[in-house]
Amino acid sequence: MEGVTTTVDPFSYPVQPHRRRHGPAGYPKYQQYRPWLEDEFTFRCVYCLKRMVWAPTDVWTVDHIIPQDEAKDLVCDYDNLVLACQCCNRIKSNKRVPDPCRTAYGKCLRVGADGAIIPLNKLGGRLVRDLRLNEPRFQRWRSQRMRELRALALCDPNGYEQVMGFPKDLPDLAVLKVKSNSRPEGLAESWFAKRQQDELPKIY
Ligand SMILES: [Zn+2]
Repeated sequence: MEGVTTTVDPFSYPVQPHRRRHGPAGYPKYQQYRPWLEDEFTFRCVYCLKRMVWAPTDVWTVDHIIPQDEAKDLVCDYDNLVLACQCCNRIKSNKRVPDPCRTAYGKCLRVGADGAIIPLNKLGGRLVRDLRLNEPRFQRWRSQRMRELRALALCDPNGYEQVMGFPKDLPDLAVLKVKSNSRPEGLAESWFAKRQQDELPKIY
């Protein structure tokens, strides 16, 4: 049994603050930014790292870092928006959490082998509490996912690549109608563009 030679940690939070690649502006509804945010945050919930590929039938949402009630002028501001699963979005509700573009969650949180999230500092403790990241059902889900992925990597390399790879239908941001874009150079860095250039990693 050979398995795949390269695997990645499915639950490792970024160790650098996220650098936004896109800067669309002018949509009247914040939900319209979703394809940009999917690409921006690599098709994962920024809070729990659940991947769209793992849950294609789930509802995926646009979340506001500074809650809508607190800053009406930022409701449709791209830099205030992130991609989140519906579950995290609901739990976060109108709480304020650190902006992943300013605070690297990987410096605040680590996921243990048993699926529990270990806070590394005060901010990490707040994230765990406010997003209820260590609720038993979430911990069980992470530990089960890790076991399944390890087994797949060993026994079914193609299956592993599918589960840890990019979605098949990547959004082509270049064709989206948008009023303005403060970071147009990001289009060439989109995952769709990378696939066209044959530069898309097999897994991430
Ligand atoms: Zn989530």
